This record gives sequence, C-alpha cells and structure tokens, in this order.
Amino acid sequence: MNTIKSMDDFNHKIKKIIITEEEIKAAIQKAGADISRLYDGNPILLVGILKGSFVFLSDLSRAVNAPCEIGFMCAKSYYSETVSSGNVKITMDLEQDISKYHVVIAEDIVDTGRTLKEVVAILKARNPLSLQVVTLLDKPDRRLVDFKADVSLFTIPDFFVIGYGLDCAEYFRNLPYIAEYNTEN
Ligand code: 5GP
Repeated sequence: MNTIKSMDDFNHKIKKIIITEEEIKAAIQKAGADISRLYDGNPILLVGILKGSFVFLSDLSRAVNAPCEIGFMCAKSYYSETVSSGNVKITMDLEQDISKYHVVIAEDIVDTGRTLKEVVAILKARNPLSLQVVTLLDKPDRRLVDFKADVSLFTIPDFFVIGYGLDCAEYFRNLPYIAEYNTEN
C-alpha cells in the first residue's frame, strides 16, 4: 500500500538528487554514439526489461543512429535468502525470433545481478547474432551472483534509488533524475 497522499509526502521521500537530468542526458548521448559505431549500420533489437527500463530505453533508442527495433520483456524474480538462481519468470516475452538479431538489452539497474544473469542466459539460449547488456545504473556492492553488464553508465553506492523509470511502490518513475529514496517516515 502506498502511503503517499499528498505532494508534501511525495517530496519528503526524495532525499537527494544523485544524478541530474543533464548528467543522464550526456551519458546516454555517449552510449548511443558508442552503440551506433559498434553495430556500424547493422540492424539491432533494443530490448527493455519492464517496467524500470522504459524511460532509459526511450532516451537510449533516440540516441542510437542505426536501424533499430524495440522489444519488451517483463521478468519477475522469486527469491528466498538461500536460493540464488533459477527463480526468474518471464511474464511477458519478446515477439521477435532473436536468432536474426543483434540484441542490446537496456536495463535500469543491476543490483544483486540475479535477474539479468538469468534473462541473459535465457536469451543466449535462443542464439542471437550477438547480445550485450547496457545498464543505466550499477550497484556492484550488492552483487550476489557473478554478473557484469557490458556497459554501465553510472556506478552508485548501496542505497535505494528512485526516478527515471525506477519506482518505490510504483511512484517516482516519472522523476527526470535519479534520487536517493528517503526511508524515514
Ligand atoms: P537484481 O537484484 O536482480 O539485480 O535487480 C532486480 C531489480 O530490482 C531491478 O531491475 C530493479 O527493478 C530493482 N532494484 C534494484 N535496486 C533498486 C533500487 O535501488 N531502486 C529501485 N527502485 N529498484 C531497484
């Protein structure tokens, strides 16, 4: 249940902006240029993992100068403290047969690494022409499995962040920046 009932409640939860809109924009322009150069005009399939990646995917796609299809997946993690793999369920899958594509996954954040490690294994088993992972944020201090994104735009410390697609109880995804969430009442 969301306890936010007013604009004051909403603003109170935004503790501190840690990455500004301008910083995000600049990093995405660079990442888009790198992707355009790497694939050299070959078509790519840009894949967003919902919901968190929808803002990043939208901006990254417009920074890429290449023939580009868009696809979405939804992955849900089911973990206990003791189980570290095999618990990601794809609740919405790609429509494309990815054996014909260079796949670029655009992710919002790599935290424990469990979701992407499994999503990547699932997609690699479908034999794409190539596959790389671009993440907006990386929290390496929280990693529980061996996973590293090919490209990471910002490395952040171990605290809960909101904004630019990332939520807390479904709010804050529409903030244009990344902020630290205020856990105090
Ligand atoms: P994983 O732990 O599998 O690497 O991350 C799974 C998902 O947890 C991410 O895609 C993201 O949706 C969510 N997550 C991890 N860290 C944060 C965070 O600091 N803020 C928010 N809003 N979501 C997070």
